[in-house]
Amino acid sequence: MENIVCKFGGTSMADGNVISRVKKIVEADAERRYVVVSAPGKRYGADVKITDLLYAAVNAAKDGDVATFEKNYSKISERFIGILKELNCSAEFTEEITADLAEIKNRIVSEKEEDYAASRGEFLAAKIMARLLAVPFVDAVEIIFFNADGTLCEKTYEAVYARLRNVKRAVIPGFYGRGADGRVKTFSRGGGDITGAVIAAGARASLYENWTDVSGFYACDPKIVSSPQRISSLSYAELRELSYMGASVLHSESVFPVRAAGIPIHILNTFRPEEKGTKIVAAHSEKTDGGVVTGIAGKKGFTVITLEKSLMNAEIGFAAKVLTAVAEEGIPLEHMPSGIDTLSVVLESSRLAGGVKERLIEKIKKETHTERVFLHENISLIATVGHGLRGCIGASARLFKALADEGISVITIDQGSSELNIIVGVEDRDCDRAIAAIYRAFFSATA
Ligand code: ASP
Repeated sequence: MENIVCKFGGTSMADGNVISRVKKIVEADAERRYVVVSAPGKRYGADVKITDLLYAAVNAAKDGDVATFEKNYSKISERFIGILKELNCSAEFTEEITADLAEIKNRIVSEKEEDYAASRGEFLAAKIMARLLAVPFVDAVEIIFFNADGTLCEKTYEAVYARLRNVKRAVIPGFYGRGADGRVKTFSRGGGDITGAVIAAGARASLYENWTDVSGFYACDPKIVSSPQRISSLSYAELRELSYMGASVLHSESVFPVRAAGIPIHILNTFRPEEKGTKIVAAHSEKTDGGVVTGIAGKKGFTVITLEKSLMNAEIGFAAKVLTAVAEEGIPLEHMPSGIDTLSVVLESSRLAGGVKERLIEKIKKETHTERVFLHENISLIATVGHGLRGCIGASARLFKALADEGISVITIDQGSSELNIIVGVEDRDCDRAIAAIYRAFFSATA
């Protein structure tokens, strides 16, 4: 018998109607044992996610802005009470959730803890789902633990196993656990996907189903190319590259717990459960889609700092000095393309705001005695990803010809020797056109 962990995202929990769909999906298969849920998300484009309302409420509480706090908190309460009505929940259960809402409100006001506040959307959504399915609610603070540095604590997996081993079915709230100081701590935004993966690994699941509002991964963003090819199967490594570069179907960190345990992920659409979705499997062990390129994703908002110094190649430790300066500013390095006498660092522009950029450049100049420093801002990075690129002659020629034919100038190029990914940097204004051009070059039959 399979042991499936299924995670439902915010749009799958957005209102009573869609929550009823979730119930049907879970109950359709006895092997769907552990259900992880997000807080109610958007019902329509201009709607506000419960998590965003909770952040707004706690920030207002911190600022002592009572009116804004009250306004946001009433929206949260109304949303949950509305869901209970739509689901025809009993008066007794409605009273229980109303009491929870009042207690949460008091705690936000008195403690003003951001992570606690943000986590309550998932907490309440999971309680409602558990009641609807008539299965136990298992709070994430009992089984998911963080180290003091914010990383996931290894004892989590044993705790999940021990708690769920004899529980046939359960609902667990996503997005949070218990921090090293005993308080509620959240993952980064969208972290319900990570919870699902952690529960799957801890419960020794055979499959991790991630239910969302799209039918899986597409070869590129459907907002850029209409009806792009759906990816039926991709590897963990390809998923990581694509989701890191902006393919937002799944949190990029959710791959680690399941990859270590060899558990496949299946992305499925709550609104179209009959569609096949995308399977994510171990690299090479199962065939991925087989084409040269599996997918293309791009992200805007990078800055390239290029240093030029004669005989840089012969100077031992040059790159180390640059990287130390970047690290000392607490900025993650995205890429580092280099030539003989040039070296560029690609950094996220948002990390360079508020004078950081100027300080960093000064520091680099001083430490490396480099005078010629060029800055290229508003750069997009576009990743063309696929195991098929390995050893494929002419793939990069096709990619660069496509960009040249579109009249797009390439500012940086980066390809590791794993040949899983070719990354090009282009001006932000060329980003979407570049993605479309690369898509056409590799998927022309369907473009
Ligand atoms: N509710 C959280 C967020 O909006 C986490 C999640 O949905 O996975 O980021």
